[in-house]
Amino acid sequence: MRLQDKTALVTGSTSGIGLGIAKALAAEGANIIINGFGEEAAIEAERAALQVLNGGKAAYDGADLTKPDEIEAMFKRADKDMGGVDILVNNAGMQYVAPVEDFPVEKWDMIIALNLTAAFHTIRHAVPGMRKKGWGRIIGTASAHSLVASPFKSAYVTAKHGLAGLTKTVALEVAEAGITVNCISPGYVWTPLVENQIPDTMKARHMTREQVINDVLLAGQPTKQFVTVEQVAAIAAFLTRDEAANITGANLSVDGGWTAA
Ligand code: NAD
Repeated sequence: MRLQDKTALVTGSTSGIGLGIAKALAAEGANIIINGFGEEAAIEAERAALQVLNGGKAAYDGADLTKPDEIEAMFKRADKDMGGVDILVNNAGMQYVAPVEDFPVEKWDMIIALNLTAAFHTIRHAVPGMRKKGWGRIIGTASAHSLVASPFKSAYVTAKHGLAGLTKTVALEVAEAGITVNCISPGYVWTPLVENQIPDTMKARHMTREQVINDVLLAGQPTKQFVTVEQVAAIAAFLTRDEAANITGANLSVDGGWTAA
């Protein structure tokens, strides 16, 4: 299989988009390290299924990505057990919705740590091994919110704009080393992250659940459809191909036309 000699680390892959990306890369033969939180038995079931899919290795690492020392330890384990990380997908992220003057400081700190600073740490640990091998793929799950803002999402929009900037910067630094660095910017994808923000958005905007779905989430998406996890995962898989070797520093929108408006 195309990726059978590669190892992919996908952060935040115990659910949603990350799990979809892990499956797409495993289907092409990549060894996989999944990461994230969740129920032990469910995670073990996903890990085992990925190992069936890739016919190789699949591991779970429960590093809390808001903690730099846990990220470092995850990379040490990846070096020891999987021969390093060839494909790094910075996907873990969280959301919190509140007006800026009421935004809890600890939520701001956590979102910046997880959605932005964690990618700085994973990238700085991944790049030396990729340089040595002369090949690497770094992919970030950014968001339409890396390009445009929405009210009440100050920390998220700030972090995602930052992730897009980090992507461009590192792409330039490693451009001659066989390493590409890109981000994918989905519009709304139906995952637990979106489901969980509906109650807070109802509160912040004084709306019903149906109003939040139709008048907030899908209002800006001209196709009036949620993006699917599989559509995002297919782009991540494409970025690992040789045909994508000259796509670097790009921010690829998958947002049903949201940011075209
Ligand atoms: P999700 O809530 O389904 O998944 C988030 C993942 O991150 C989970 O695996 C969770 O366990 C993990 N995680 C949370 N805190 C962590 C921590 N401290 N350390 C390690 N892992 C942690 O969400 P999703 O919708 O699949 O989102 C994945 C990414 O896609 C996020 O970066 C999100 O911002 C981005 N995104 C989502 C949408 C959408 O509409 N769902 C749109 C654009 C971008």
